Amino acid sequence: MPLKNKVTIIGAGMVGSTAAYSLVASDITEEIALVDINQTLVKCQVMDLQHSMPFWGTTKIKVGSYEDIKDSRVVVVSCGAAQKPGETRIDLVKKNSGIMKEVVPKIFAQNPNVILLMITNPVDVLTYQAVKMFPKKKNKILGSGTILDSARFRFLISQTLKVNTASVHAYIVGEHGDSEVPLWSTAAIGNTPLTHFKQLTATKKKQIFHQARNAAYTIIEGKQSTYYAIGAGINQIIQTILFDKKTVLPLSHLVEGEYGIKDICLSLPVILGAGGIVYHINPEISALEKKQLWRSAQTLKKIAKNITL
Ligand code: NAD
Repeated sequence: MPLKNKVTIIGAGMVGSTAAYSLVASDITEEIALVDINQTLVKCQVMDLQHSMPFWGTTKIKVGSYEDIKDSRVVVVSCGAAQKPGETRIDLVKKNSGIMKEVVPKIFAQNPNVILLMITNPVDVLTYQAVKMFPKKKNKILGSGTILDSARFRFLISQTLKVNTASVHAYIVGEHGDSEVPLWSTAAIGNTPLTHFKQLTATKKKQIFHQARNAAYTIIEGKQSTYYAIGAGINQIIQTILFDKKTVLPLSHLVEGEYGIKDICLSLPVILGAGGIVYHINPEISALEKKQLWRSAQTLKKIAKNITL
């Protein structure tokens, strides 16, 4: 079946529906199918989204099923349990890997060429679980990883330096979670290294990273879940795939030897195109960052022992 500019979203809760809203508002997809085990919820999410159509564009949005994956280019997986206040992403692993054991094979049974974008947490471990189940699809299985953490990081740097976030080139890599690593050594404003900006003192840097890393805990404490920023991040990943933009994004994927790490999924900057990852950038990073990244990988490997294959 020929593929359409279509996205299927499995899990129409806060994250899935916000991603759908962001796509509808951008008017870049032909069709969006929302799938959820909660039929009342998915029906009502679709109705609400459809009613926004007169303000946005022409995207067709419907309650879908796994059959919709047949002619979709991307499937977003945002189903399962979310973090509760005080819970870490890791607490979710057992619950959500049980769900992925059922969901992931159903996706590739419909369309072996679809790009699977994992959002559900713990995102790195569940991305790895999907790769372990379908190793030949490793370039087509991605996790949103630290795209969100990097956005928070860039925003906070931009506020301190009073510069547009688009001119802040900075990544957080490793786990989407507590062991993540800020790449200060490669961060730049425009093409000028961050070290040039003396207002960014060591204390300020510490504060920025602390805020970026702990943002999810703060937001979940105050409003139960985080969805706007990840919804926008999902939009950027999908745009990159649909229009073969070859954008550099920090995404979770199978790491095969980079920085001495292998056999785990974590985020590193990659170039993304229509078919999935096209290039691994592997920036030159400091010895400390390498050490922290390696530790992050070990943390994830321990957690990955809890997945159900
Ligand atoms: P939510 O509870 O609002 O939505 C989850 C939805 O999944 C529910 O509607 C539920 O009915 C549905 N669901 C459960 N099992 C299903 C199944 N087997 N098939 C289809 N649907 C199923 O949660 P949320 O706030 O939307 O978060 C979803 C996931 O995304 C969580 O794991 C959360 O931690 C994660 N998340 C990830 C990031 C990231 O950066 N990767 C950011 C925010 C949230």
